[in-house]
Formats: sequence, C-alpha cells, structure tokens
Amino acid sequence: MQNKSKNFDVIVIGGGVAGLSTALQLGRRGVKTLVVDRGALGSGSTGRAAGLLGQLRGSIAATSMLMDGVKIVQDLEAQCQCEIFVQTGSLRIAETTERAGEIRDLVAMGKSIQFPIETLDAKQVAELLPYMKTDDLLDACYCPTDGHLQPAELTSAYIKAGRQAGVEYKTNCRVDSILNEKGKITGVQTEQGISHSPIVVNAAGPWSYLTAGSGDVILPTASIGHYYLTTRPDPEQTVDRKSPAVRDRHHRIYSRPESGGLIVGMYEAEPVEYDMERLPDDFDMSLMKVARDDFNAALLIHAAQQRFPWINERTPMTLTTGIMTFTPDGKPFCGKMDNLEGLFHCTGFSGHGIVQSPVVGVIMADLILDGSTKYDIEAMEADRYYELPGFQTRSEIKSKCAAMYGSYYGRVERPEILSDSE
Ligand SMILES: Cc1cc2nc3c(=O)[nH]c(=O)nc-3n(C[C@H](O)[C@H](O)[C@H](O)COP(=O)(O)OP(=O)(O)OC[C@H]3O[C@@H](n4cnc5c(N)ncnc54)[C@H](O)[C@@H]3O)c2cc1C
Repeated sequence: MQNKSKNFDVIVIGGGVAGLSTALQLGRRGVKTLVVDRGALGSGSTGRAAGLLGQLRGSIAATSMLMDGVKIVQDLEAQCQCEIFVQTGSLRIAETTERAGEIRDLVAMGKSIQFPIETLDAKQVAELLPYMKTDDLLDACYCPTDGHLQPAELTSAYIKAGRQAGVEYKTNCRVDSILNEKGKITGVQTEQGISHSPIVVNAAGPWSYLTAGSGDVILPTASIGHYYLTTRPDPEQTVDRKSPAVRDRHHRIYSRPESGGLIVGMYEAEPVEYDMERLPDDFDMSLMKVARDDFNAALLIHAAQQRFPWINERTPMTLTTGIMTFTPDGKPFCGKMDNLEGLFHCTGFSGHGIVQSPVVGVIMADLILDGSTKYDIEAMEADRYYELPGFQTRSEIKSKCAAMYGSYYGRVERPEILSDSE
C-alpha cells in the first residue's frame, strides 16, 4: 500500500456524473482538482442510468436549469467530437381525468415560459408511436426538444474535457474519512494515504451519507433500487432511434428507444432499500444482476405490458438494476452545511442525476469559488434538513426517502405542487 501525500485546491469524492461535472467546471476555472473514486469512474449509479431528459419540471427554476444543461452538453459534444444528446421529443400521456388535468396544467405552465409543448389526441399519438397502446388515452402532451443523454458518452466527455482542463483522477482508491481541524476541512484519508485540500466535495452518490458520516455530518439520503428492461430489436415492433420517450405516470413507467429496442423503467410503490455499509467492500454496481422471476422484474414487465402489449415474460430483453440516491423531497443536495468549513455536498439526485449534472457542475463551481450562483437553488440547498427534527436518524430518513420514491410517479400533481419527478 502506498502512502503518498499531495496538495489540491479541491478534492471531489466520487467519479460519477455529479463529481465529474463539478471537477470539469472547477478545472476550467483554473482550480487544482482531484477526483477520487473507490472503483472505476462512472461505475456507480451513473453506469446504470437510462438517461431520460425531460426539461419541463414543476418550477421555472428547475426547467431553466435543464434547458441550460442541454446547451452545456452541446458544447461538450463539440469539444469531444461525440454524440451525447439524442433529441427524440417526449410524450406524457393520460388515461384518467385526473391525469388529463395534470397534463393541461403542465401545458399551460410550459407555454407561460415559451417552452415548446403541445397537446396531442390519441390518434396523433398513435401516428407517432405505432408500437404503443393508445385506445385508452384521454389526453397527451408532446415536448419536441426533449430526448435522452447517453450516460456512457457523457461520462467519457466529462473525463476527456476534465483532463484537458488539468483535473486529476485517482481510481480504485476508497476515501475512508474526511479530515478536519477545528471545524475546517484539511483533506481526505484514503486507503492509499492522505490527500490535502481545504475543500472537499462529497459526490459519493448512494454512499454519500456514509462519506458525510465520516465527517460527522448527517445527510438525509437513502439508497434505493431501480429497475428497467431493454427489449431486443424486433422486426414486428420497429422502434425508431428517434421515437419519442414516454411518461405514463398512471402505470408508473417511462420508455425510450435504445439500439432498435425499447427501454421501459418503473418507479414502483414499494421500493427495495439498500444499506450501503452492509454491502461487501468490493461491491460493484455494474455487476448487479436481476433475474426474470425477481418480484420487481415481474412487476415491471406487467406494468410495461399495460402500455406496450407485445411485451411479456417471454420477450427477448435484458433487465438492468442499480441503486439511486433519494432525498425526502426528491430534490438534490448541492452546497454546504453549517458545521464544517470547506465541506460541500453534491448528491441526492433522486433518479435525475444524469440530466441535472451538466448544470450542477456549474452551480457547484460557482458555490465553491464565488459563494453564490446565478441559478435559483433554494430548493436544492444542502442544509435544508440541517438539525431538523424527524430527519436525524437513519430509520426516519430511509422511510421518508422511500415514501418519496414510491410516490414519484404514483401521485397526481397540481401545478403549485408539481415536483421535479419526470
Ligand atoms: C437503474 C437506474 C436508472 C436511472 N435512470 C436515470 C435517467 O433516466 N435519467 C437520469 O437523469 N438519471 C437516472 N438515474 C439516476 C442517475 O444514474 C444518478 O442520479 C446519477 O448517476 C448520480 O450520479 P452521482 O455522481 O451522484 O452518483 P454515482 O454515479 O453513484 O457516483 C458516486 C461515485 O462515488 C464513488 N464512491 C462512493 N463512496 C466512495 C468513497 N468512500 N471513496 C471514493 N469514492 C467513493 C462510487 O464508486 C461512485 O462512482 C438512474 C439510476 C439508476 C440506478
């Protein structure tokens, strides 16, 4: 085991999209930055994501951030000569009057901020998506500028552009604790020795409550399993590469095209929770497997079949599972808390970290270097549960985060409480 000590301006714990994007933006602003990951870069939640990008959210602030994120990605594509954003358009569909009301509110809100959105009837939806059941639809809306980001391409681009900006990366090196002296951050203790820096960013995804705990901070996140299926290309059910993504909140599912097949994922009502500290030291999320007869896989296939009747237990498909980082209100934690000077958090992306990461990197660099950002981040402040009763023990936190996941797609939303769930 090596025992090397080195100084940096900022150390980022975690080389998922959140940490990589933050490091890139810091590097671009001349900051000597190190990203440390316990495994390979992108081997956490990032490597398991479906990448759906729906820009219209429950608030103008959240929507504008995602619209800016697309521009950041387009610049990265030009710099790295790759395709990250696939613009397919997206649909929300309604099969109940409550859901139709939800869609009407969403369309009104989108139009009020000149976001491209239009309503479609069932016949128009059937023309766009001939492989989807549409005869029960009461309403739908279409957002032509939505699509998906390709997580692997995004990750590679962050690393390539980060290297060009001088960012250093250390992989297969777990951070064991965050170090401080008299309330001020001094660096991190890793399994390969100490690295020094006055600023540390906790971007450890599902593990971030543990890394925060190593610096005596209670971080209210929980680690929750998520599942999606990917059908193999089928000449009988042609799924065009540019077919719109679909969100069917009534059946709790989303879909998008993938390599000639279809990805269908589900936010089930009763999620599987993980205690990251109980997983083996060599746990590798990219090796997580899910069997066809697993309960959650069966639930997912059943839900997918309600909208895509040609999908059943015998359909050739791969099943993917991974672990997401959820917060009690479904919004991330970006920024610092009161108790430690120099410790920033960048985590809790609640199923939307891929699409939020481009702009989150800019926000984190702004907060670290300038102490403020032009973006309205009130809903994302890291200290919003700081010392708040009811959010201090793991069991309280886990049950609130699981409840948020369970209602993410299930609940019917009115405009004033439209959340950031897609
Ligand atoms: C199945 C699935 C589907 C998803 N679909 C979508 C989607 O369609 N759209 C979307 O936007 N998002 C989606 N997500 C969510 C998205 O993947 C996450 O929000 C995003 O990847 C979070 O990135 P992150 O950097 O915060 O965490 P991660 O990618 O998990 O990165 C954290 C990193 O920290 C490292 N780490 C942890 N502990 C330590 C330590 N002690 N020392 C050093 N390193 C450490 C880990 O190895 C890991 O690489 C999905 C997630 C899953 C699981």
